[in-house]
Amino acid sequence: MSTDPDHSTRKDTDKPTNPDQRTGLVVVNYGKQQLLEDPAGDLHRCVARRGLEQMVCGDRVEWLPTGRGEGVIEVILPRHNVLQRLDGNSKQRPLAANIDQVIIEAAAEPALDTFLIDKYTVAAELANTVPLIVTNKSDLLSTEQRSRIESLFSEYRDIGYTTLFTSALENTGIREFEEQLSNKTSILVGQSGVGKSSLIKRLLPEIDIETGKLSAASGLGKHTTTATTLYHLPCGGKLIDSPGVRDFKLGKTSPVDLGNGFREFHDYLGRCKFNNCRHLSEPGCAITAAVESGEISTRRYGSYRQLLAIMSSMD
Ligand code: GDP
Ligand code: ZN
Repeated sequence: MSTDPDHSTRKDTDKPTNPDQRTGLVVVNYGKQQLLEDPAGDLHRCVARRGLEQMVCGDRVEWLPTGRGEGVIEVILPRHNVLQRLDGNSKQRPLAANIDQVIIEAAAEPALDTFLIDKYTVAAELANTVPLIVTNKSDLLSTEQRSRIESLFSEYRDIGYTTLFTSALENTGIREFEEQLSNKTSILVGQSGVGKSSLIKRLLPEIDIETGKLSAASGLGKHTTTATTLYHLPCGGKLIDSPGVRDFKLGKTSPVDLGNGFREFHDYLGRCKFNNCRHLSEPGCAITAAVESGEISTRRYGSYRQLLAIMSSMD
């Protein structure tokens, strides 16, 4: 994930374009076609004008109607950020745009993968978004398991991240979850089987209606669930569900960016003796000193070193 240095999108300072152009939000991205929602909430099946760069869910656009429920997207409005993932060819591909929050979902089963959570927190930070860490399937946790996760969570809370327990099965923790989702655009990430679809169903009980409405407008039928989709939640937020996040990988990141991706490093960055310090075994390193004094978690620092090693092997 990264912020978008894209120059092909229109700048805020540009003159208004064609007065017939309308604004819209990309709510489903089928690749060649996009489903747009206009400010009145009506859906339009659109294609991009030639030469326009790849659009993603969450993009705000200007478009021209060409027929009933149809149009051509003319301009992609400036993005706050773009979440990217590595595709099968190790190329960065945009996944979603204009995101406020990355919901990192984990669960008792499959076993909690703390390194994966750390990778997602780094990705969220590097895209200028806030991570929210959710452990689902809380109904399966024994008292011991729960207190182990609580102590892990306290590490994240010390950094300033919000953590939550939910059970999609027993419908617990959902109200707290909704509070964290309202008035924001979020994207849900996490390994397969942790209960992403189950949580979405809890948040959006009318999902079948919503999916039906989207597929009717798209004319593509109900079996196009593989498209990235933005849902409006009854609690007021927007939630992007993307099959692309199932194999989500952090792209190549420089050591400096990687350090910035660890929020608890921020107070120490710039205080190392060498300005190109990689915080490994360099003398006068402010980060390793903070790890030794217990101000930075040894486990999180271990994730940093592991990620740095992965990045160097990507050269
Ligand atoms: P996804 O792959 O992340 O979308 O996960 P799913 O929503 O498909 O859920 C995977 C499995 O976990 C299914 O069998 C669900 O019934 C089950 N599951 C989901 N949420 C919970 C929960 O809160 N508690 C328990 N015990 N099982 C759950
Ligand atoms: Zn250092």
